[in-house]
Amino acid sequence: MTKTLTVKSRIKTEFIDITEEVRNVINESGIKSGICYLYVPHTTAGITINEGADPSVKRDMLTSLMRLIPFEGDYHHMEGNSPAHIKSTIVGVSLFVLIEDSRPLLGTWQSIYFCEFDGPRHRRVIVKIV
Ligand code: ZN
Repeated sequence: MTKTLTVKSRIKTEFIDITEEVRNVINESGIKSGICYLYVPHTTAGITINEGADPSVKRDMLTSLMRLIPFEGDYHHMEGNSPAHIKSTIVGVSLFVLIEDSRPLLGTWQSIYFCEFDGPRHRRVIVKIV
């Protein structure tokens, strides 16, 4: 089963919690035990799993990425969004979550984040459940 989630970012860089949407796709699939692959088909976005309880963690990850890869720098790419391309490669565009008892095997504090690095845009996350 493959399904495409749509994500709408509102600002240039932000982490958007998509855990509930992924849970819903797993429920719809009817699969009790398996693997959920998540893939972002974009070059200036990413996907990651990290703490969802304290919003400061999301903020600290974003500000640290911005400090590592500032908006201004010695970039040659004509489109002017090299920092977003670099962040996408560092964070990665795919991950997987194990499914047991029809639920994603996430830790208590874990959430799944779509990572926008060049918003605002309409984005997609492809979910494949096997
Ligand atoms: Zn570009």
